[in-house]
Amino acid sequence: MSLSPEAAPPAPVTECPLCGTALAPDATRCTQCGYHLVGIPGRPTPWTKPALWWTAAGLLIVYAITLLIVALAR
Ligand SMILES: [Zn+2]
Repeated sequence: MSLSPEAAPPAPVTECPLCGTALAPDATRCTQCGYHLVGIPGRPTPWTKPALWWTAAGLLIVYAITLLIVALAR
C-alpha cells in the first residue's frame, strides 16, 4: 500500500452516505433525508480561503469593538 500524496483523488460520491439515495451531480443536500453533502469527497468544501479570511476579519472586528468599549468604560 502506497501513501504517496499523488494518489488518485477520491471517487465522487454518487449516493447519499446516510440513506443510499442516488444524488444529482450538483446537489448539496440529499433529496430524501436532507443530509448535507458539503465536504464529502467530490463535493465543494465550505472552507474556501476567502471564507476563512472573512471569518478571521469578523472576529478581529468584534475584538476591536469590545476593546474600544472596555477602554471607554474606564
Ligand atoms: Zn440521504
